[in-house]
Amino acid sequence: MRQPWRVAIVGGGITGLAAAVRLRDRAPAGTEITVYEQSGALGGKLRTGELAGQPVEFGAESFLMRDPAGGESTAVALARRLGLADEIVHPTIGQAALAVDGGLRPIPGGTLVGVPGDLAKVTTVAQPIADADRDAGRPLLAPGADVSVGALVRSRLGDQVVDRLVDPMLGGVYAGRADDLSLVTTMPALARAARTEHTLVAAVRAAQAAAPRAPGAPVFGTLAGGLSRLVEAAATASGATIRRDAAVRELTPTAAGWRLTVGPTRDPESVEADAVVLAVPARPAARLLAGIAPEAAATVGALDYASVALVTLALPEPELPELSGFLVPATEGLLIKASTFFTTKWGHLARPDGLALVRASVGRYGEEASLQVTDADLVAAVHRELSKVLAAPLPAPVASHVQRWGGALPQYTPGHLDRVAAARAALRGAHPTLALAGAGYDGVGIPVCVRSGATAAEEIITALGGSAA
Ligand SMILES: Cc1cc2nc3c(=O)[nH]c(=O)nc-3n(C[C@H](O)[C@H](O)[C@H](O)COP(=O)(O)OP(=O)(O)OC[C@H]3O[C@@H](n4cnc5c(N)ncnc54)[C@H](O)[C@@H]3O)c2cc1C
Repeated sequence: MRQPWRVAIVGGGITGLAAAVRLRDRAPAGTEITVYEQSGALGGKLRTGELAGQPVEFGAESFLMRDPAGGESTAVALARRLGLADEIVHPTIGQAALAVDGGLRPIPGGTLVGVPGDLAKVTTVAQPIADADRDAGRPLLAPGADVSVGALVRSRLGDQVVDRLVDPMLGGVYAGRADDLSLVTTMPALARAARTEHTLVAAVRAAQAAAPRAPGAPVFGTLAGGLSRLVEAAATASGATIRRDAAVRELTPTAAGWRLTVGPTRDPESVEADAVVLAVPARPAARLLAGIAPEAAATVGALDYASVALVTLALPEPELPELSGFLVPATEGLLIKASTFFTTKWGHLARPDGLALVRASVGRYGEEASLQVTDADLVAAVHRELSKVLAAPLPAPVASHVQRWGGALPQYTPGHLDRVAAARAALRGAHPTLALAGAGYDGVGIPVCVRSGATAAEEIITALGGSAA
């Protein structure tokens, strides 16, 4: 292998940058790392902007503090590696509500993404059906099987628990429907427990017992100043050459490694690399893989995505309840699917002139038409619906921002992880110096993406023949 190694990372989101940091830490000294990002900015779905003088997230807002296994999450570990651990802040108010039957009710505690371990605790918002969650003498989930979250929970606890609790909570993350989303991918801890437990309630309790949470330990964190600081710090620490406005349009295997075709069609540039981390969403990944590994490309490209828009309003002195925000079940018939009372939830944010920032998420999988209106109409609709849910007319916003995320949230259907494993295995056999990473494969959350990038970096180091550490 020629020295120094040249590793190309395609995609400058958090996955690609986590891969770059891991390569810097573990690949031999002098390894040349280049990140190619098609847009003018790094970060992908991590984008801190500003409204009314306040930093506000126009994309992802926070990360889970804990790993499902109980330790600190990989996002926290990355912040620590980047010297940002002391900059992690937590919500001042954790309690959120559900907008049901035209009013707001606190989201019941003690559930796993809405799936209750104690039925009595959820009756304020949903009535579980009696006696369906019976022990049939075998585990809920057969070895190797997957099922949609909705199908499992409906059969055991009834429609209300899905429609009024699980669906809005999953929808808050994926903008998708519980009836479509894979249990194994979206709720891995519950899926693990379901392979041994005979009832759903017992599986929830077993999953919770497997990763007990210290009382009062914060669930979520973000960085003071915004998540773009994580992006910038990762780019700097990686020592990578960052190429912005540099779309990779073609990947070609060569005798020594890879040739990347970069930039506009009329003025393409050819660059050589020994290995490639492909850290882009599934569709661009599939396009780049089509000529190299058509079967893997077809599998990867079949993943569907939901589109959403985030509408942020700066409101003068609004009367907001002491909540972090609320989720809206699809059955309520509103455009808004979730809202965050940003300045209430995050106490570290100042409120100059009493301005409050309220962010609403709009758009559900399969309802893209609802987003095909002007920004002004979206702002007006969100303002109207917020007033309705809060049962109080809100003051007119002094500023607003609409961030559209077209095709941004992967919809993992049952069997997703098996399909990903098959695509990776096929690719690894033929092209061990090409690794796939990111939200299109391993899961949507920032910690999962960080782990996915780091794992891809390790694969590349192994394929190129060793490590410095
Ligand atoms: C609105 C929204 C809110 C979210 N909120 C949260 C949250 O609060 N907490 C949480 O944990 N997760 C959240 N997520 C999920 C999380 O942000 C994403 O899953 C994660 O950031 C994806 O990172 P990634 O690097 O895999 O992909 P991306 O962020 O999509 O990055 C991929 C990058 O690749 C670039 N690219 C694409 N094609 C090419 C090409 N051909 N050549 C070069 N570059 C290319 C893109 O421009 C992009 O910058 C949210 C997601 C969305 C959309």
